[in-house]
Amino acid sequence: MPELPEIETVKLQLRKVLIGQKLLESKFPQLAGKKVVGIERKGKVLLINFGPGLDLGFHFKMTGQLIYEAQGKRIVGGHPTEDFVNKMPSKHTRAVFHLSGGTLYFNDQRMFGWIMLNPKFVDKLGPEPFELSVDQFISLISKRKKPIKLVLMDQEIISGVGNIYANDACWEAKVNPRRLANTLTAKQYHDLYIGVVRVLREGIKYGGATAVDAKYIDLHGLGGHYQEHFRVYDREGEMCHRGDGIIHRFELGGRGTYYCPKCQV
Ligand SMILES: [Zn+2]
Repeated sequence: MPELPEIETVKLQLRKVLIGQKLLESKFPQLAGKKVVGIERKGKVLLINFGPGLDLGFHFKMTGQLIYEAQGKRIVGGHPTEDFVNKMPSKHTRAVFHLSGGTLYFNDQRMFGWIMLNPKFVDKLGPEPFELSVDQFISLISKRKKPIKLVLMDQEIISGVGNIYANDACWEAKVNPRRLANTLTAKQYHDLYIGVVRVLREGIKYGGATAVDAKYIDLHGLGGHYQEHFRVYDREGEMCHRGDGIIHRFELGGRGTYYCPKCQV
């Protein structure tokens, strides 16, 4: 599931090529003939702006991806699949946007993702960690009586933190992901803020994470490399980077949760 760093990466790449291009044809007739003015991201939603009051929102959910193709070259982002290198459109293509300089495809295998003009959804999103001071961050999370990892992933409290980065941030702060958010020590609250910002920034720096089994991605130089820097995520049975224990996996809120029982309390 693409998270903040993955969407941030595709935002930065599309900005270089889409701005100034005219939309010739799409399933949104209101946008026909309009030029791309800007590209923003709010939490995990990508917003392509076509002028005042015209934001086209993309939510990738589990398996959404964007592919931009122009003169045989591609920019790909979102959930990595073989469609990154397959001929477009594919059987997973849900929407096609013909622009003056190229074509943008939105693909989604499992179809939980969506495209919407001026999505109200983004108004409900909480601030991103980068927009918060340490004190603001602590006041948002420290009264909740839910496991800290689920609080971090609640997009209406703080936006942009998904499963990978919530797991790794808890490790950074030496917090057990099950701990109720209102029971952390002052040091853990502080370290969690530092940890969340650190893993997200690192995710952006490495272009997000790509599934380790997606070999074809690497072959074509596509996809990000944060997976080479996972703290605990997807490391069940391996040694903790602090050298004190073995990474365990359990389900929390229906998502795979990874932690070191020795150093995360
Ligand atoms: Zn450990």
